[in-house]
Amino acid sequence: MSLAEEIDTVTRESAGSVDRHATSRTFDSTDPATGAVVGVFPVHDAEAVDATVGQARDAATAWAALGFDGRRQRLDAYRGYLARRLHELADLVHRENGKPHADAILEISLAVDHLAWAAGHARKALGPRRVRAGMLAANHAAYLEYQPLGVVGVIGPWNYPVFTPMGSIAYALAAGNAVVFKPSEYTPAIGAWLAAAWRAAVPDAADAFQVVTGFGDTGAALCRAGVGKIAFTGSAATGRKVMATCAEPLTPVLMELGGKDAMIVDDDADVVAAADAAVWGAMSNGGQTCIGVERVYATEAVYDRFVAEVTAQVRSLRPGSDDEATYGPMTMPSQIEVVNRHVEDATGKGARVITGGTDDDAFPGEGYVAPTVLLDVPEDAAAIREETFGPTLTITRVRDAEEALRLTNDTSYGLAGSIFSGSKAKALDLARRMRSGMTSINSVLTFASVPALPFGGVGDSGFGRIHGEDGLKEFTRAKAITRQRFALPTNLMSFRRPADAADQLARVVGMLHGRHR
Ligand code: NAD
Repeated sequence: MSLAEEIDTVTRESAGSVDRHATSRTFDSTDPATGAVVGVFPVHDAEAVDATVGQARDAATAWAALGFDGRRQRLDAYRGYLARRLHELADLVHRENGKPHADAILEISLAVDHLAWAAGHARKALGPRRVRAGMLAANHAAYLEYQPLGVVGVIGPWNYPVFTPMGSIAYALAAGNAVVFKPSEYTPAIGAWLAAAWRAAVPDAADAFQVVTGFGDTGAALCRAGVGKIAFTGSAATGRKVMATCAEPLTPVLMELGGKDAMIVDDDADVVAAADAAVWGAMSNGGQTCIGVERVYATEAVYDRFVAEVTAQVRSLRPGSDDEATYGPMTMPSQIEVVNRHVEDATGKGARVITGGTDDDAFPGEGYVAPTVLLDVPEDAAAIREETFGPTLTITRVRDAEEALRLTNDTSYGLAGSIFSGSKAKALDLARRMRSGMTSINSVLTFASVPALPFGGVGDSGFGRIHGEDGLKEFTRAKAITRQRFALPTNLMSFRRPADAADQLARVVGMLHGRHR
């Protein structure tokens, strides 16, 4: 029996009869391409969530006590388990999320690579170290280490149901925390599979990673369950609610939210490569990518060639659910209305549709959105200002790269972006001035596949970082320790200090720092 057949699913009859499913309410997860039921899952209520977090709290103590080497060994076993069952998990991702099998393989491979990096680098990033004690405490040794928070609650979205939550789960576990994961209600089977895989691969720390399933209320219960931190990935609107709920128990939050990422195509860019990257960045995964390319600003020098190249490439795309399809159905049916509203709002304001659109002749089938390219979209249109999250792309002609950067930065979001340019120096300068957490030059989305690089946004795209050393530290608290090595003749922090000690200190500080103007 495959793990997919064994996952923590229930029947309507068995729900509520086992401790793990201490709730009798259930919901179905369905295949967005066919509507077939993928699994039946419990709607965990506050009591069930509290019980799970309680179990995780006990497990967290033992997990932390394993130390970096013990955890690394087990995280390595987990990634080995995932790698050996890559196709099985990819098949489940295809059925539940809708993306092509090949894209699921890519997504899971990235997650496995992050697991390896987090496990392999935790000691160096977080382990105990000595730091310089400085002049005022020269007789002390100073130690710094990063300690786990206990239990981390991870609330995830459906668009990259393995890669995205694993960016928090892997790093939180490697840092010594137990994790309770609430997957999206659109992808609970994938979450349950990941937890079942953990139990199978790491049986002696099975409760260090558990899953609760349900809707927003289950996520809110996790926010109230007294966890050490909530790592939330989802929309800005839900992020605000999560923060409000976490304010009650003063639970810290990490916010990975939406984006409206832009690509800048400069005068000397490789136009064919830029078009290829824009089409992939905008349309792969049906455009349901937080760091997907939603807008392109191309300079006058390259605009016509870029538009022609994008148009030619987009014409070869075909949404569907078979092995040859370039992208799948919309995972969340209600998103189709959002995409259509953005396209119609843009055309109503004078934009031109060069491929796709909402007309009947462009209709690709129930549940799918046609690959859509829009030109001349005014900057106040929803397709420019709001996250569209569909296979759409706006292309705007700009005078030069400076105007492109100004328009790129004129958004409340600030997740990522890309720059195509023939000049390394100019591209790096533009990248530094792009108001976003991540920028890739002459490619798209690459930063997500570099485990050493932090991932996260600014503004409405959230705050905090997953991945890299910053991502490990995100799931810890810094612990500072000093140890007096020997006593000084004069102890300034004592009521018994000599009367003139402060004057002597003032003289020393004046000599050391007073000359700086
Ligand atoms: P969403 O905000 O609707 O839901 C995210 C999760 O929050 C789900 O698990 C949901 O059940 C839960 N939730 C809903 N209400 C809640 C509440 N009141 N309290 C606690 N939890 C609650 O997002 P989605 O539609 O699943 O995902 C798409 C969004 O995620 C897009 O905006 C996308 O850009 C963003 N995203 C961001 C990143 C990133 O790393 N920045 C990655 C992937 C997706």
